Formats: sequence, structure tokens, C-alpha cells
Amino acid sequence: MLRSTLLAASRSGAIRGLVERTPLTRPVVRRFISGDDVDAAVATTGEVVADGRHVTLDHLGEDTRDAAQATATVEAYLDLLRRLELAGHTGRAEVSVKLSAVGQTLPSDGEKIALENARRICVAAGAVGTTVTLDMEDHTTTNSTLGILGELRVDFPWVGAVVQSYLKRTEQDCRDLAHAGSRVRLCKGAYKEPASVAFQDKGDVDRSYVRCLKVLMAGEGYPMVATHDPRMIKVAGDLAGDRSPDSYEYQMLYGIRPDEQRRIAAAGNRMRVYVPYGNEWYGYFMRRLAERPANVAFFLRSLITT
Ligand code: FAD
Repeated sequence: MLRSTLLAASRSGAIRGLVERTPLTRPVVRRFISGDDVDAAVATTGEVVADGRHVTLDHLGEDTRDAAQATATVEAYLDLLRRLELAGHTGRAEVSVKLSAVGQTLPSDGEKIALENARRICVAAGAVGTTVTLDMEDHTTTNSTLGILGELRVDFPWVGAVVQSYLKRTEQDCRDLAHAGSRVRLCKGAYKEPASVAFQDKGDVDRSYVRCLKVLMAGEGYPMVATHDPRMIKVAGDLAGDRSPDSYEYQMLYGIRPDEQRRIAAAGNRMRVYVPYGNEWYGYFMRRLAERPANVAFFLRSLITT
């Protein structure tokens, strides 16, 4: 119930102003967001890579209805990629892109604009020797996002996909994507989805996650195991069997279980941290609150006590 309410609020303006304009919330927000700008993003990358972890950076923003805003997001990624190269981080840092931030949801020609914008980011990433992963958003965009992924992979075969185990279609998507060279991030899914397309019960989502892991680990691609769930991490390690440690990776979000991130990296695994930055943090932050009731209590307490 609380999860549904928070996820509904994450897509509406109803409490957005209150959450965003309350300066007291900032320390709570900063647990999950690296900072406002590219300087903060590069500084956080430096800290994370220093202890052996890898990074994927997200310039925050989504559901853009304005073509100029979509272009500004592309420019922000190009600037970020230049800065990562200057700082010498491109061996360990890639970028994650939400297609709805670069045009997918524009009222006309959205898919075409998103493809061209994503292509510009891929060209820049390839030029500095790193990769791009396309985040997955709500189920109404899944076909479009996988279609754009396919087009991009013709020229940039290293572009990563994301699949969400809460969607009933995802096991089949994993089969389709588990081919040589295919980078696939498996997560549980963070949006409010109807029962017609998504498992509603946490046990069903977890069982689907395991089935998808089996497909990806048995396939020829490069699985990216994105979860904080100790049980899923254990299953992934078991299923990896004699795969070499550089043929798959673990991923977690910035600010969540950082000690576990370091432990997994120190054990010789590749661990990548998803680092979001920028001013458009509202939707991302609300999804993090929705994932864990304790985060809501923490947030509300900070309003009273900070
Ligand atoms: P859960 O069962 O939700 O959590 C397991 C445990 O992890 C919890 O008991 C708790 O200890 C800890 N935990 C989980 N969430 C939090 C939190 N917010 N705060 C504090 N502790 C927490 N979703 C998408 O829909 N599209 C994407 O493109 C996408 N990309 C992602 C990229 C990465 C690298 C990661 C790690 C997640 C991504 N997600 C994405 C989010 C994902 O779908 C889940 O919503 C999120 O990871 C929580 O699920 P979980 O697997 O950690 O398991």
C-alpha cells in the first residue's frame, strides 16, 4: 500500500514541490544522490573506483516533454564523458541513460529523437572507450526501449540492456538477449505496474529473478546482477559456477549496502555502483523510498529533527 502510494506520487506533481523545496530533506536525499552537478559526479566516481569498485553514472531526469530539455540531457552526458576521460576513469566508469530523458516520451517523433540522441551519447562513449546501458522504465516503454537497443547494437554492440523480473515477459526477453557479447542488467523492477503484466507478490518476483538469472548465467552474454538482496546475490554466485569473474558483474545503487559492495569487490568480483547526479532527483528518490519502508521513516524523521 505504502509502496503503491509512493510510486504513484513519484509520477505526479502532487507532493513534488513539497519534497523538492524542503531544504531539510537534502541530507536524506544525499544518501542516494551523489550531488547536483558533474563535479560531484566525477568526485564520487573517484571515491568509488579508489577501492576497486566500478561505476555507472545516471544524469537524473525522466519523462521529458520538451525537445530542448532532451538535447540538454545529451549535452550533459557528453560533458560527463569528457570529464570522466580527463579524470582517467573511463576504464571503470560507464553511463546509464533513460530514453525518456532523451526524447522517448516527446509527443511527436519521440522514438526517433530518442534513438538519435542515444546514438550521440554512444558515439561519445565509444570515443573515450567506455559503454552505455539503457535503463528500463515502466512497461509501456519496454518494446520501444528494446527496439532502440537493437538499433543501437548494430553500430555499438556493447550497449547494455536492462530487464525487470517483475514483468511476466522478462524470462523470454532474457532468452532473446542471452547471446554472445550481450550485456544485460537484471533487476527486480522499480515502477508501479498492473497485474496484467507484472507479478504483484514479492515471492513471485524473486522466483522470476532466479529463473532469469539461470537463463542469463547459462547463456553467452554478460550478466549484470543488479540487486541488494543477499539471497539473489548468493544464487547468482552459485549459478556463475566456473564462469570467470570478468564474465559477469554485480551492481548496486549508490548509498545502499556500501559495505557489502566493498566486500563483494574485495572478494575478487566486479562490483559496479549506479551513481545518480543532478537536480531532477524527485522520481528516483521516491522510488528509493518506496523500496523500503524504513527509508520513509528516516525521511520523515529528518523533517522533524534536522
Ligand atoms: P529488494 O527485495 O527490494 O531488497 C533487498 C534488500 O536490499 C532489502 O531488504 C534492503 O536491505 C536492501 N534495499 C533494497 N532497496 C533499498 C533501498 N531503497 N534503501 C535501502 N535498502 C534497500 N529498476 C528499474 O525498474 N529499471 C532500471 O533500469 C533499474 N536499474 C537499476 C540499476 C541498479 C544497479 C540497481 C541495483 C537497481 C536498479 N533498479 C532498476 C532498481 C531495482 O529494480 C529495484 O527496485 C531495487 O534494486 C530494489 O530491489 P532489490 O533487488 O535490491 O531487492
